[in-house]
Amino acid sequence: MSAVLSLYGPNTAHPDGRFAPSPTGVLHLGNLRTALLAWLFARAQSGRFLVRLEDLDSGRVRTAFYDEQLRDLVALGLDWDGPVVRQSERTALYERALRTLDTAGLVYPCWCTRAEIRNAASAPHGTPGEDRYPGTCRNLSEAERAARTATGRPAAVRARVETASVALHDRCAGATVAPLDDFVLQRSDRAFAYNLAVVVDDHDQGVGEVVRGADLLETTGRQVWLHGQLGLTPPSYIHVPMLLGSDGARLAKRHGAVTLADRAALGEPPAAVRTALAASVGLCERSDAPTLDELIARSAELLTSANPATP
Ligand code: GLU
Repeated sequence: MSAVLSLYGPNTAHPDGRFAPSPTGVLHLGNLRTALLAWLFARAQSGRFLVRLEDLDSGRVRTAFYDEQLRDLVALGLDWDGPVVRQSERTALYERALRTLDTAGLVYPCWCTRAEIRNAASAPHGTPGEDRYPGTCRNLSEAERAARTATGRPAAVRARVETASVALHDRCAGATVAPLDDFVLQRSDRAFAYNLAVVVDDHDQGVGEVVRGADLLETTGRQVWLHGQLGLTPPSYIHVPMLLGSDGARLAKRHGAVTLADRAALGEPPAAVRTALAASVGLCERSDAPTLDELIARSAELLTSANPATP
């Protein structure tokens, strides 16, 4: 059977993996496929598998989804090691990392609104379509900062990044050059940003291989940069392709029955959904009904047949 998913290079870290959903909705088939692959790859390498709920965006998180997301993982047959971790309970760790960066002179306060950043990016000297931070608040004088503080408008905290991109190796995408800008580490509402929290947590929890959707490949440069500045070794990365709807667009609610509950209502039990998800990356045929152990064995083959050369 030819695998639709092909991998490059070895796992340069260790096999402990994780799934880190944001409890802002019901997991759809794309999220479930990522969870399944992260679990299979960890188990195929005899690694631990951790679950972390990324619930820092309090405006979008709904507590009902915490249990619902975990129930869906269980329904697929996935288990995890240790307690489920919630980022909202770990802010002291993010605080400490931010202080380390601050001490190293690698952060600055930023008062820009989204609209101001958009307008600056579309100004004649900017590159059209770019949403990179234009650096407005990067070199403010002490007096300018004091004036902005005096307005009472809360500031976000940005990273002071000196390079425009970072090269990294992704075991699915191959050699990748990921863009960098002065990204946000803490939002103006004090919420810690995803990129900071994910780096702190992956390190603190001992994650060796990050398996997640290709939509996050672009953010990985920021994370690799942060690992470096905090003196940490980045994990190995596998960004798996996004699951697409029949129209070729990224799978979404409008594509119809996209959750486990939707599929069950159509008479498709979770085990059948799991087979379909595994078949979509070539780990089995749709007509098979592989056990989890069989899928683990096929994942092990896929991982060991990884092409050592990077495209
Ligand atoms: N919480 C992120 C999401 O649900 C995933 C983060 C990650 O896997 O690094 O999109």
